[in-house]
Amino acid sequence: MRQKTRRTILFISLFLFPITMNFLSPYVSLDAAFQGLIAGSLLLFLAQFLTGMIFGRAWCGWICPMAGLSELCESLNSKNVPVRTLRVIRYVIFTIWMLVLAVGFILAGGIHGIDLLHLTEHGVSVDEPVKYIIYYFVLSLFFILTIAIGKRGACHCVCWMAPFMAAGYHLGVKFHMPQLRIHGDDKLCIQCGKCNQICPMSIDVRDQVKKGGVSCSDCVLCSQCVDACPRKALHIRMAGIADADRHCMKEEEE
Ligand code: SF4
Ligand code: SF4
Ligand code: SF4
Repeated sequence: MRQKTRRTILFISLFLFPITMNFLSPYVSLDAAFQGLIAGSLLLFLAQFLTGMIFGRAWCGWICPMAGLSELCESLNSKNVPVRTLRVIRYVIFTIWMLVLAVGFILAGGIHGIDLLHLTEHGVSVDEPVKYIIYYFVLSLFFILTIAIGKRGACHCVCWMAPFMAAGYHLGVKFHMPQLRIHGDDKLCIQCGKCNQICPMSIDVRDQVKKGGVSCSDCVLCSQCVDACPRKALHIRMAGIADADRHCMKEEEE
């Protein structure tokens, strides 16, 4: 039931993407920055950072339209992917984007205001031919990369939003905030590996259970591992950070 609800939300979100695209767009935030304006998309990225402190990457598991597309692609390529290597590409893209954003605000002489509906004159993102091109380009990019690389391939290597949530997650860990996480009971685990097979983010859940649960910013809190575990060894719950989690954090940073 939980997974049906989650997928329904993701597919509705994907269906609404022609309306919401600008609110997730790095280009819209850049265009606004060069006019000294904070676009709605930049505010959303900020919200992802702030909510990431407690809810980590839940956006990616439960709301993002591209997650809906990625889950559709999984039936075509369900291979686990080399997350650490792909993440390097993502951070290069992210750094360039942030630098251009900063240059935009500097050239514009600072921040002059907020424009929630920047480039969205009629409340709908895709409302003219050029925006259809952008819309199909984004869909094709995510589709092709995910089919070519494997599970959530595009998410790992090109997503400009994930770094905000990952940064929020790490800050939450640093300040010992209560966080929604997947907890595991090593005593119940029979090392069957079903959690590893089903995890959309290619996390070695089976290994992380030995340390008390999943503690990395890649977890999108989809709970597929929880629902797939035959021994009910996994649970999603809100909790403070344990020493084991800090250990995993170190591993992730390496
Ligand atoms: S990584 Fe990016 S594109 Fe993928 S689900 Fe998360 S926010 Fe969406
Ligand atoms: S699915 Fe459950 S029992 Fe199997 S390896 Fe994962 S946590 Fe252990
Ligand atoms: S570890 Fe579990 S909750 Fe996290 S992304 Fe993988 S399957 Fe989803």
